[in-house]
Amino acid sequence: MTVRESASDLVEPRTIVLIADYDEHLDAAFCPLCGTDVTSTIGTPTVPAGLLEAHVDDDLPVYGWRCECRRVEVVLPAPVEVAPDHFASVDAQSNGETVSITTPEPALNAALAEVA
Ligand SMILES: [Zn+2]
Repeated sequence: MTVRESASDLVEPRTIVLIADYDEHLDAAFCPLCGTDVTSTIGTPTVPAGLLEAHVDDDLPVYGWRCECRRVEVVLPAPVEVAPDHFASVDAQSNGETVSITTPEPALNAALAEVA
């Protein structure tokens, strides 16, 4: 699960994944790229399978926000500690680093079962 795939680094990304700047006192989330308050976009934006460290073929929904400040999709997953309990932690590539994001457990289980 921790092995890093480098092939996707060569492809122009269609989706940017960055952990949101989350302020627990304000209960608000901000885009690390442009600083926009994205709190109202909370939902389950999709992270492409190619950016996930888990060996799955399916894109996965993640708990988090999104921003429209780039031509490509900007997905801003919530820090793991912010996500509800029924979300499972998975590793994803974010700007060349590995970060933990959260996905609904049933979605992760279904994606893993499909590959197995
Ligand atoms: Zn932004």
